[in-house]
Amino acid sequence: MKDKEPFGGLAIDFGADGGGASATATPLAIAPEAPPTATGGPATIASAGDRVDTKLLIVGSGPAGLTAAVYAARAALEPVVLAGSAPGGQLMLTSDVENYPGFPDGIQGPDLMAAMRAQAERFGARLVDVDIDRVDFSARPFRIWARGTEYRAQSVVVATGASALWLGLDSETRLRGRGVSACATCDGFFFRDREIAVVGGGDTAFEEATYLTRFATKVHLLHRRDTFRASKIMIDRAYDHPKIEIHPNTAVEEVLGDAKVEGLKVRDTTTGDMSEMQLDGVFIAIGYVPNTAPFREWLEVDSKGYLVVRDETGSNIEGVFIAGDVHDHRYRQAVTAAGDGCKAAIDAERWLEAQGITEAATATAW
Ligand code: NDP
Repeated sequence: MKDKEPFGGLAIDFGADGGGASATATPLAIAPEAPPTATGGPATIASAGDRVDTKLLIVGSGPAGLTAAVYAARAALEPVVLAGSAPGGQLMLTSDVENYPGFPDGIQGPDLMAAMRAQAERFGARLVDVDIDRVDFSARPFRIWARGTEYRAQSVVVATGASALWLGLDSETRLRGRGVSACATCDGFFFRDREIAVVGGGDTAFEEATYLTRFATKVHLLHRRDTFRASKIMIDRAYDHPKIEIHPNTAVEEVLGDAKVEGLKVRDTTTGDMSEMQLDGVFIAIGYVPNTAPFREWLEVDSKGYLVVRDETGSNIEGVFIAGDVHDHRYRQAVTAAGDGCKAAIDAERWLEAQGITEAATATAW
């Protein structure tokens, strides 16, 4: 996979500008520099000048988008995938992935995504590494603009994912994957018998802190205020837990360590006093943002800003399907996103067939 370098030249946007919380991964704004690159796919996609026509357009190239691409390509839909200027999704920011089935020795996140991409391309999916700019779902064909090209699609799978929020510290960015993580389920295992911290005061932080006590000898929960957003039961449980120590009014100023996390420099937000804590890891759990910006005008979102699915993978617009973390704030796993992508592709294919846009017989031939 490496020699093909499907993610070659990728510059991951860690979003760390040093100023406040920032989202990572697939920003949905057009990046002005560098022309888009397209890979894979047959030469049969109708394309006129700066317009591309396709039966199925998939937006997003994490596990949901690429699994949808594999399924749709194998059903001869010749899908076009708008993969984003930082393709591959959140797994591109992860090192060891040990909970994706089929890899008993684990796999590196970027390697897993490269393999999924190669698999989608092998069956004829065409990937274009651009961020989308604008969407018009008012009528079919649906229209999406990206870097000067208009994509017209009879159906769309939205799989743009969600991005973890980060503190925005340079040291946090530098040590990501080296003791800094935003996913306890993914990385907790690596902190067996270690002392670690979780940052945040919401349900995610409390849930992750509790989960991490399975591995860590001690979990410090650091929150910048003395009141929490988390539910009372989660807070009570954490206060009662012998392995959890809660530090209210504590803000992280710097993650310490050269090659790996060795500690944190923290500030008491009431007195301004600075101190250092020796730790082996830190989990940032200050929330997620679903990447929905270009779709909000058209697709229904819930109170937390995630897209609303109807009947498994459908949306409020017929022919527009939804897969992965862009709607799922409950599981947020690569394998659940991949499963979602599979379902969305099958639903899209059946829907296209019902509209008479594709021929029957592929829907059961996955
Ligand atoms: P929340 O927005 O609820 O909480 C985020 C926390 O992070 C807040 O305490 C906030 O502090 C803190 N924070 C935000 N930015 C920064 C920053 N730059 N520096 C330091 N701290 C920061 O997000 P969650 O992910 O916890 O929860 C999202 C939603 O999902 C909630 O509705 C929650 O109830 C739900 N959820 C439910 C679960 C369950 O029921 N099992 C599990 C997980 C989530 P401050 O309070 O000062 O703003």
